[in-house]
Amino acid sequence: MNLDKDSALVVFSGGQDSTTCLFWAKRHFKHVCALTFKYGQKHVLEIEQAKEIARIADVPIEVMDVSFISGLSSGCSLTDNSIEMDEDKPADAPPNTFVPGRNLFFLSIAAVYAREKGCMNLVTGVSQTDYSGYPDCRDSFIRSLNVSLNLSMDEQFVIHTPLMWLDKCETWALADELGVFDLVRTKTLTCYNGIIGDGCGECPACKLRRRGLEQYLRLS
Ligand code: ZN
Repeated sequence: MNLDKDSALVVFSGGQDSTTCLFWAKRHFKHVCALTFKYGQKHVLEIEQAKEIARIADVPIEVMDVSFISGLSSGCSLTDNSIEMDEDKPADAPPNTFVPGRNLFFLSIAAVYAREKGCMNLVTGVSQTDYSGYPDCRDSFIRSLNVSLNLSMDEQFVIHTPLMWLDKCETWALADELGVFDLVRTKTLTCYNGIIGDGCGECPACKLRRRGLEQYLRLS
């Protein structure tokens, strides 16, 4: 199949990282589209916010229901209301905000969808730097999956990970450089308690986001 090298599909959640990636993709590719997954996350607002940001970015967005993913395993605090969220990563396991197979499924589905759309490039906001213990955010996993996806479909997909080696402070800097600092700050939803923008300030995602933001504001 002839994939278009000027087209990119962004795996898009409406959070800080994938929103920065959406605008990164707009800068680097002629045609950009977004794919958002409904995987049983507690905050459906995430999806509404993703649609709103895609509208502002003038990027077509598709929302795909893959709720079966959260049904495959138990014990994830992001999809199960009865579980209290881990504040820190336990010594011997990923934190309970880890959804096993999430990026494996997301990127595999995204690649099949991209193939259908004739789109060669896939963009994802995973990062190894602020490594929260998610094995499927590591560079080695993404490279390995890229090879597997190409072998599985006999294609030449390229998975781009613009944030792989950036910390949160550098991710804010990138958003600023792309001209979307305010948009990322006020429109994205990163907070595990579902509060848009600066968030609840208490959950692990908010703390990580704020630490990076404060560091960036001090530097700039
Ligand atoms: Zn929060």
